Amino acid sequence: MIDTDIIKTKGLGIYDALGVKRVINASSWVTTLGGSIMPSEVVQAMAGAADCFVDMRELNMKAGEIIAQHTGAEAGLVTSGAAGAMVLQAAACMTGKDLGKISRLPDTAGMKNEIIMLRGHRMGFDRAFTLAGARIVDVGTVRSSPLWTIKAAISERTAAMAYVVGWGMSRWPSLEEVIEIVHKHGLPVIVDAAAMLPPEENLTKFVAMGADLVCFSGGKGLRGPQSAGILCGRKELVEAAALNGSPNMSLGRPMKVCKEEVIGVITALELFVQRDHQAEWEEWRGKSQTIVEALRGIPGVSATVEKGNREGNLEREGPQAVIRFDASWKGPSIPEIKESLLSGDPSIHVGHGLLGYASEEINIAPQTLKDGEEEVIAERLCSLLTVH
Ligand SMILES: *Cc1c(COP(=O)(O)O)cnc(C)c1O
Repeated sequence: MIDTDIIKTKGLGIYDALGVKRVINASSWVTTLGGSIMPSEVVQAMAGAADCFVDMRELNMKAGEIIAQHTGAEAGLVTSGAAGAMVLQAAACMTGKDLGKISRLPDTAGMKNEIIMLRGHRMGFDRAFTLAGARIVDVGTVRSSPLWTIKAAISERTAAMAYVVGWGMSRWPSLEEVIEIVHKHGLPVIVDAAAMLPPEENLTKFVAMGADLVCFSGGKGLRGPQSAGILCGRKELVEAAALNGSPNMSLGRPMKVCKEEVIGVITALELFVQRDHQAEWEEWRGKSQTIVEALRGIPGVSATVEKGNREGNLEREGPQAVIRFDASWKGPSIPEIKESLLSGDPSIHVGHGLLGYASEEINIAPQTLKDGEEEVIAERLCSLLTVH
């Protein structure tokens, strides 16, 4: 039984009471570690929202207007994560606002049900499209999908083309090129940009390029509830997505978003657009620098602050402390170091690293570090790398 006094004090004691270990997250905004830490304003707004009933359709509509305002899209909708938004993207493109078709999903017999993807964009999350009843038609190879392969795949069964903007995802052809050719065929382009906030300009960028539906995670860099997300885009399609979602008895009903989460996402979005992103970036750089400095001079170890996406490195989310080892290194291996960090108390989860090089480096993603945790990491690394 949980000691209810601990619950009443609300503190982090609740995790101790359950016997759940707290972790230091140097791995960025990842679902496996709980997404993000919501700013207190978000938590308070959610608590405030919990105390009365509202008409969910009205709340969804008003929240959608705020999303539209900040994204520059015609309309918006709060969803259950970006993955939930992807289910609704696929559903909307297959059914439109036809209630008969909506009531039949995920059975898509007789509907346009193919979604084209670049092979270099295939990933576990695209199951969200098939969950809605779509069939994915992938084109090209892992490395490149020339435009003609997209053209060749378009048919009368095509419902949409999906494009993923994400870390380590193919960028050729570009989203602009894809939009141009797909729109020539009168078809919509749906974009998964789940992990692409910040930088803040992405909030409006893909919509401005002409993407028809774009989704973002609510619980990554936006720092809203982990289980929420946002969808924005063309009015007809967002309305079709809403009809396919909760509170309606449609396909999206099991991906329900509660009133507290809707308010949480909207509050997080307002805070996100007001945030001083440059100052935050510098804070990340400072935390990375602390770790790098603590490791300076250890033989065989090189620690540097590496640039983030805004400064030219396309595959790092922001400045990161990156640790590498040269041939003279005689200490524990990278997997052994990572294991020691994980099994210590508190447990430290480091980043996944530059794609393809993850096994050759240890990196610290500072975005999700609470103030002072960089010192704890620096100390632990220092002792792991010097005492052997
Ligand atoms: C995180 C992520 C998702 C899923 O987002 P949720 O908000 O966790 O549902 C989908 N696609 C990509 C590329 C992601 O990084």
